[in-house]
Amino acid sequence: MRDPDCLFCKIVAKEIPADTVLDRDDVLAFRDVNPQAPTHVLVVPKQHLPSLEAVGAGHEPLLASLVDAVNEVARADGVDGGYRMVTNVGRAAGQSVDHLHLHVLGGRTMTWPPG
Ligand code: AMP
Repeated sequence: MRDPDCLFCKIVAKEIPADTVLDRDDVLAFRDVNPQAPTHVLVVPKQHLPSLEAVGAGHEPLLASLVDAVNEVARADGVDGGYRMVTNVGRAAGQSVDHLHLHVLGGRTMTWPPG
């Protein structure tokens, strides 16, 4: 359920401070310390899952809650209708924290393809 060495587990446990924007039973959302857009929020499950690859059958309620939280964060920041949701899986994709997190980016024009 929790990885004692995981940074985001420590944020979930409130052992490390974060700029929290949404706190539910199963999901936490907080602002990224190194924002890449005017809105840059990380939406994470409170349970430790290393990445999207750890998600499968049985996680449907959690996935729905994560997506609902993404939309709530976007609405609260006024970027609904124009935001990007990204999750990096593995080092090659740029994942640096091994706790599933959905980046919510908005407030500026996005380019494609991402780097
Ligand atoms: P990723 O590289 O996809 O694994 O994303 C990890 C994100 O976590 C990066 O965008 C970091 O800026 C962010 N980050 C690292 N430490 C913290 C922290 N203590 N509070 C908030 N965001 C963090």
